[in-house]
Formats: sequence, C-alpha cells, structure tokens
Amino acid sequence: MDATNLPGPGVVMVTAASTAFDTVASVVDPEIPVLTIDELGVLRGVREEDGAVVVTITPTYSGCPAMRQIEDDISRALDRAGFTDHRVEVTYQPAWTTEWMTEEARGKLERFGIAPPTAVEDVRCPKCRLGDPRMIAQFGSTACKALMVCSACGDPFDYFKEH
Ligand SMILES: [Zn+2]
Repeated sequence: MDATNLPGPGVVMVTAASTAFDTVASVVDPEIPVLTIDELGVLRGVREEDGAVVVTITPTYSGCPAMRQIEDDISRALDRAGFTDHRVEVTYQPAWTTEWMTEEARGKLERFGIAPPTAVEDVRCPKCRLGDPRMIAQFGSTACKALMVCSACGDPFDYFKEH
C-alpha cells in the first residue's frame, strides 16, 4: 500500500470546510427565497478555526431585519449537516454592494417579479419588460426595495435598489 495516497489530516480538514461551505451556501434569503445568500453576495466566507466552522456574512443593509434569521438558518443548516461547533461572524467592511449579486441572481430576481438592481432610470417592469415605470414608494416590502408601478401594464412591482 502506498502511504502517499492516504489522505492526511489536512485533506480531511479541507473536505469538512468545503462541505460546510456547500451547506451554508444553500441557505436562502428569508425575504427572497429564490436566492441563496451565496448568490446575493451576503456569504463572504467559510473557514475552519480550531475545529470550529466560522461563517462570515455581510448584511445587505445595516440593520436589515432578515440578518438575524439568516444567522439562525445558517446555524440550523450546519447543525443538520452534523457540524456541532460553529459560529457566524458579521462584517461590515467592505460594505455590501449590489455589484456582488451574481448575474444568475439578477435573472432569478426578475423571474420572481422583482426588478434587479440597476440605475433607477434603467428599471424595467419584470412582467412585461418595458421601461419607464413610476416609483410609488422609496421603501417597498422591505427597506432594500422600492415600490414601482409599470406605465405599460399598470402592475406594481418591487425594485431591488442599487446600493
Ligand atoms: Zn409591466
């Protein structure tokens, strides 16, 4: 038997960390359940530290009420995956920006009926894809979204504000 092919402790550690990453990356945003926190750019990293899984997240907005639930959801997901020792760290530097949102995430948002982040003059109705909507309220269903109404089909929709 060739001892060089045996996985050392380092390999086991990397595997555990990547499993933990996959577990955490599948946690969805409680307000936008079609998007994972990885796609949103909220998940900044998963590392192992003295045998514990340490997850770093950056809130979309400071004081975002969904963050508390995201932290709980991460803990529950890691518990279910068999990780007993874990914690969540919140970092505000650098600040989250809508640029961290993946292209795939933007497409999912639009199919979900939310206009993805873009300059406000470029916002299109997620339903009929036409432009020139009118903003009804700076704050829609959550602080990170504004409520708009389509000038073509007349339907109201949320716009994820560029940030
Ligand atoms: Zn429309």
